[in-house]
Amino acid sequence: MNLLHSTQTVIKEALEKLGYQEAMYELLKEPLRVLTVRIPVRMDNGEVKVFTGYRSQHNDAVGPAKGGIRFHPDVTEDEVKALSIWMSLKAGIVDLPYGGGKGGIICDPREMSFRELERLSRGYVRAISQIVGPTKDIPAPDVFTNSQIMAWMMDEYSRIREFDSPGFITGKPIALGGSHGRETATAKGVTICIREAAKRRGIKLEGARVVVQGFGNAGSYLSKFMHDAGAKVVGISDAYGALYDPNGLDIDYLLDRRDSFGTVTKLFTNTISNKELLELECDILVPAAIENQITAQNAHNIKAQIVVEAANGPTTLEATKILTERGILLVPDVLASSGGVTVSYFEWVQNNQGYYWSEEEVIEKLEKVLVKAFENVYSLAQTRRVDMRLAAYMVGVRKMAEASRFRGWV
Ligand code: NAD
Repeated sequence: MNLLHSTQTVIKEALEKLGYQEAMYELLKEPLRVLTVRIPVRMDNGEVKVFTGYRSQHNDAVGPAKGGIRFHPDVTEDEVKALSIWMSLKAGIVDLPYGGGKGGIICDPREMSFRELERLSRGYVRAISQIVGPTKDIPAPDVFTNSQIMAWMMDEYSRIREFDSPGFITGKPIALGGSHGRETATAKGVTICIREAAKRRGIKLEGARVVVQGFGNAGSYLSKFMHDAGAKVVGISDAYGALYDPNGLDIDYLLDRRDSFGTVTKLFTNTISNKELLELECDILVPAAIENQITAQNAHNIKAQIVVEAANGPTTLEATKILTERGILLVPDVLASSGGVTVSYFEWVQNNQGYYWSEEEVIEKLEKVLVKAFENVYSLAQTRRVDMRLAAYMVGVRKMAEASRFRGWV
């Protein structure tokens, strides 16, 4: 089952549980619009290469669409669609005035020069400029895109519109209207969800054994926050392997040695595989790398008491069922990784009002939003006797469905 199909399956179930008619599912199962663009880029060797990109807007009943742009060779239209639906759900769960959007370009930024990346970023904005904007659809970074790319995109959009538009995009450098706390926001949000989940399970963070798959933006900062909270990070990994130390890894050293793509295990010889990492003895497991890592094949071997999904789609629906039946508390991606979009929203608010907050203010506001979102999802899961993923989808679709109904769309 691909990501789009499994998301649609849970949305259908969530809408049924909430008592909506089939027509609501028909509206929400696919994005309202998906634009495919072809972007010609002059490469450094003088040749022109034409790239394919997408922008998907799932739903804008609540407010403008919002969601990142991914640069990756494996980007597909279906993946971008699924990711835009997840953004709608996340916005609903943390109660932001947004619908969901997502973009992607099929490319490998690791093999492109700085200037080629700039031309591609600007070309993409020219191609999608008619359907995006601070009150229509606000992009942000995602896999293999960063604040520099956001800066080029904001500059290109401002030139096209002929006025400065910091609110067009989030995840910008601080000097261009970026928000304090944005870089670590996803990891901070995951940390808050881990703390809340641990409380519900009576696990003390101090001394708890944590395993984190992936050592990029989400995984590395999360490992640091866990380490600082007194937990023992016993395993981490990247695309090339995993490191394990039952006494706890030296996270500060690993952070210092990782490269900008989140690679660090290549420096070591005594590595284990990602498969072994997931099945390690631990209290808390955090998949923070890629999709489909916990499946029906390995779900029975997971030893953690709590699994918190920092990555998008790391656990299949079959595995979700197995983990839940085994009494493992699974905090789903649409809740656990919503810290990024929450601080992106704060960035947009600051851009719109032209008044900026300190890092402490941002973290305090993020804390309030996520604690409330966690409690909403957790208590719904308890009262309706459903797993946390279904509960999160129920919370996530509710406002969007209501807004669509009030607008008279369904
Ligand atoms: P990243 O590119 O910074 O890091 C990805 C990490 O995963 C790297 O350490 C990489 O080596 C590792 N990895 C890649 N392929 C792997 C494989 N096959 N097996 C094991 N490890 C592998 O990405 P990120 O921003 O940290 O995002 C990680 C996940 O979190 C993604 O699913 C992303 O969609 C999700 N997420 C990120 C954010 C954010 O703000 N960064 C927000 C929401 C969700």
